[in-house]
Amino acid sequence: MATVLDIAKHNPNAAPVAVSEAARAAGFIEKTAELTVAAGAAPGGASLIGLTRGQLKDSLSQIGVPERELKMRVAQLWHWIYFRGARDFAEMTNMGKELRAKLAAAYTLARPKVVSEQVSKDGTRKWLIRMASTGPLDKGAEIECVYIPEVDRGTLCVSSQVGCTLTCSFCHTGTQRLVRNLTSAEIVAQLIVARDCIGDWPGATPPEGAFVPNDGGRFVSNIVFMGMGEPLYNTDNVIAAIDVMSDGEGLTLSRRRITVSTSGVVPQMERLGAEANTMLAISLHAVRDELRDELVPINRKYDIRQLLDACRAYPGLSNARRITFEYVMLKGVNDSDADARKLVQLLKGIPAKINLIPFNPWPGSKYECSDWERIERFSEIVYRAGYASPVRTPRGRDILAACGQLKSETEKLRARARMMAEQGIGAEGVYAVGNGE
Ligand code: SF4
Repeated sequence: MATVLDIAKHNPNAAPVAVSEAARAAGFIEKTAELTVAAGAAPGGASLIGLTRGQLKDSLSQIGVPERELKMRVAQLWHWIYFRGARDFAEMTNMGKELRAKLAAAYTLARPKVVSEQVSKDGTRKWLIRMASTGPLDKGAEIECVYIPEVDRGTLCVSSQVGCTLTCSFCHTGTQRLVRNLTSAEIVAQLIVARDCIGDWPGATPPEGAFVPNDGGRFVSNIVFMGMGEPLYNTDNVIAAIDVMSDGEGLTLSRRRITVSTSGVVPQMERLGAEANTMLAISLHAVRDELRDELVPINRKYDIRQLLDACRAYPGLSNARRITFEYVMLKGVNDSDADARKLVQLLKGIPAKINLIPFNPWPGSKYECSDWERIERFSEIVYRAGYASPVRTPRGRDILAACGQLKSETEKLRARARMMAEQGIGAEGVYAVGNGE
């Protein structure tokens, strides 16, 4: 769910599926052309980064590590890769030289390439990351990943798909092609890249002047699946990635600090709760089916009643473990007092908090952001009914990392990059760190 960031990247392998207003009007719910890479496949086939314990075991078997040693060797690799952030097999000094040489001959610890990094005045960082090629015709899918630091936490917003099959009318990603699902390794790799970039490994230090939490904890303490794509259309890989991210001997993210945001893929919600045990966020945005059918067209498959029933049945739900309902504020569309009251009524009995998100218009979007007084009034009605209803402060606007801004601006950057290339100027100047665009 692209609620924190919307990303416009496409891959030359993708079938040319774009969503026009006419298509939306015709009732287009999902785009086709999903190209799925084998679940959990190592990007490029040779990097061990992001692999599960089972995949590491297979990788070790393939280079002749005897069965009796596998468990121990996996534990060693796991520690070096996910606890220490090792970049070279030579660092793995508790393994024999011969094994390290075999590993180095067969595999790498290569990360996906960071094509650019931008740093906002408010400390938010946005990385454009290119995944390894999946075949001769694939230059490598590009996704963006956003790091949002606060004093007592650092949140990483990750993507689960390249593009999105769905066509939510307020979302810029929804106008883009679906390229493919990300593998579990590619999802985990976004966290590895973030930790590399902000020095979030034992013994590492953050870049000079970087804003990171100062509470003594890890710099990335929270993960939200709110980047590009619908996580529950890639459930296998999302759950496998969460298993790796939350492993207590490696990356050690608490499952309570991982939030998966869905547009409402009802049949997958219980499985997510049962298997991944994470926090859940719902991209709700409307309280009447006719409006939600338009804003979040998956509502035509699973309507509000079905969605809220699935929320009530979400495993582990309690007052200490509430569901977050995301609600984008659209002027004159979903922001009336009556909408606020209906929202409160609908959520009755569900331990919930409600995030109100000021809409960031994008070129071609038919919506405007609600006026500030209207947002405050809406928030007050919800708050008085006993629900926390924070208005989400847009972060990273100056680097185009705020909700809904990324596509057009990325295209603008690309156009400028092309222009500069024609003039013989490197594209690096366009994507330079902290250029404050
Ligand atoms: S599910 Fe909807 S809101 Fe989320 S990325 Fe896809 S189109 Fe956007």
